[in-house]
Amino acid sequence: MHSARIVVTPENLLRPDVLALHAYHVPPASGMIKLDAMENPYILPQALRDEIARLVAGAAINRYPDAAAHQLKASISKVTNLPSGMDILLGNGSDEIIQLLAMAVAKPGATLLSVEPSFVMYRMIATFVGMKYVGVPLTQDFSLDLPAMLDAIKREQPALVFLAYPNNPTGNLFDAEAIKQIIQAAPGLVVVDEAYYAFASDSFIPHLAHYENLLVMRTFSKLGMAGLRLGFLAGSSAWLAQLEKLRLPYNVGVLPQLVAAKLLEHHDVLLAQAQSIKQERTKLFAALAIINGVQVYPSEANFILLRVAKATQIFEGLKQRSVLIKNLNGGHPALVDCLRVTVGTPEENIKFVAALQDTINQLA
Ligand code: PMP
Repeated sequence: MHSARIVVTPENLLRPDVLALHAYHVPPASGMIKLDAMENPYILPQALRDEIARLVAGAAINRYPDAAAHQLKASISKVTNLPSGMDILLGNGSDEIIQLLAMAVAKPGATLLSVEPSFVMYRMIATFVGMKYVGVPLTQDFSLDLPAMLDAIKREQPALVFLAYPNNPTGNLFDAEAIKQIIQAAPGLVVVDEAYYAFASDSFIPHLAHYENLLVMRTFSKLGMAGLRLGFLAGSSAWLAQLEKLRLPYNVGVLPQLVAAKLLEHHDVLLAQAQSIKQERTKLFAALAIINGVQVYPSEANFILLRVAKATQIFEGLKQRSVLIKNLNGGHPALVDCLRVTVGTPEENIKFVAALQDTINQLA
């Protein structure tokens, strides 16, 4: 006899914490001036594009990639000035590395700690792997609240701490001395996430050897390779050799390996683009600061956080004018009426400022 089969639905099969998640939202952007995702707005010089085309044409895409990505890792170590004795682990974007780190430490009851507001994937990935997440509020001006951090570390004993340096979405660099105290107080790993390193004035890479529980994570997404999906984690081989066990063997494909290694041979081209983005950031900051009703926050990244009256209406008004930025209103309470705009090309930035002014005038 067959018993009646119970209908399998997502609701009765999946973990309740997965059902409760909201998917990371990526809005459609076709035809828009795209200033929502911290991409590098510049394309590559034609000669370099031709070189890449030839490389791709000759690539052995019928074969699995080099699982150890020897050549790419060597290029990364070189352009990063990795201190001797330090190793790297590659990820399919740094998102994947956050997930891998969380998986590695997710013993029952383990805690992932970060600050709020910060990069939302820290919290989301903690949920993915069943870790407890603790977000310590930043101060009013978005700096680290060191006493609160030290208290939380003592109380929660986090296995993993993430600090984005510079922070997303606030754009500021935290106080380096405060971070050092956090690293020393933490009973687990502290990962300094330098996604925006190319636009910032400081890095923790030179400090890697000083702290046995420090790892530094970077991505090439903001430097012109968002479409390749490539991030890396730098640290001692004692940690990385263990973490390597959790890395899926072919997580970085043949084409990303090949193209990224070629681009890193031309690191100067990318750094020059980052340099113009920094100059544009200064100009954009100044242009925004003189608009009535706009509060601008200083940034060491390739985006700027601003607070306006009626952020959601302004976001919609910009969208109607074909400019896509990020609306942070309705997310974290500290980001009420906040918007985040990625620094674009000079033309894009001018169009954005004009569209913003126009929208504000219309709403007044
Ligand atoms: N860390 C921070 C702080 C970020 O802002 C981002 C991207 N928004 C990432 C990591 C992930 O970048 P990717 O997966 O493209 O490497």
